[in-house]
Amino acid sequence: MTARFPVSAPDAAIRAGLLPCLREDLQLWFSDQPADLEQARSYCQPCPLRAHCLAGAMERREPRGVWGGEILGRGAVVGRKTGDSEAAVRLSQ
Ligand code: SF4
Repeated sequence: MTARFPVSAPDAAIRAGLLPCLREDLQLWFSDQPADLEQARSYCQPCPLRAHCLAGAMERREPRGVWGGEILGRGAVVGRKTGDSEAAVRLSQ
């Protein structure tokens, strides 16, 4: 008899090929180009793991990249990214 293990929602989504960041060019998610990051954000919108992805990235304080449809910089959501990879404008400003 084969042992059965519960399949988590992330695992199921990955196996079903539902994650845009695994289908598209992952470089877009970590690019220094604002247009690339906006493209990545748009790819994230239909992702079934968007909320889970963003919560995890915030918890890990991801230093950069698009996570859960948001641009993160130094562990916080930023409104947009300028051409300077270190410069970001926070949503709260
Ligand atoms: S929300 Fe997260 S898992 Fe989904 S496409 Fe965006 S980066 Fe990938």
